[in-house]
Amino acid sequence: MAIQQTFSIIKPDATSRNLTGAINKVIEERGLRIVAQRRILMTRAQAERFYSIHSDRPFFGVLVDFMTSAPVVVQILEGENAVDVYRTVMGATNPEEAAEGTIRKLFAESIGKNSVHGSDSEENAALEIGQFFSESEIVG
Ligand code: ADP
Ligand code: MG
Repeated sequence: MAIQQTFSIIKPDATSRNLTGAINKVIEERGLRIVAQRRILMTRAQAERFYSIHSDRPFFGVLVDFMTSAPVVVQILEGENAVDVYRTVMGATNPEEAAEGTIRKLFAESIGKNSVHGSDSEENAALEIGQFFSESEIVG
């Protein structure tokens, strides 16, 4: 498996509980490298575009409200097989189903307020990275 990049968001429930460093510690301990990182307050337009695949789901409005409710930290993570590795490090969407030691098991509050996002494919990782980072911000 080659070195890959994946896109990560530390979500508002985590930034508002001052958990950015604690989550980054887990990310780094599992061998992923944070090669770009920025704290932003997402606009509604950004959040709606980012989660447009879920626009028909009943929780879409609540999700957009949540993602714009407080700052998030957008990140690019790099490592061997990074897309799948980070999904494993994050744990299941619903923290009640997340494995021990995963970020969502450790920190998530609910299926909605679940502390982190991670890309679900290499193709989506490239699209998501492109939505939030320019080439000049990615220095390795
Ligand atoms: P994941 O983030 O694990 O890839 P999904 O892509 O299915 O999960 O959903 C995107 C995000 O939408 C979730 O991380 C969560 O914040 C929110 N979400 C998903 N399902 C629900 C739900 N049933 N109720 C409320 N929010 C949800
Ligand atoms: Mg998803």
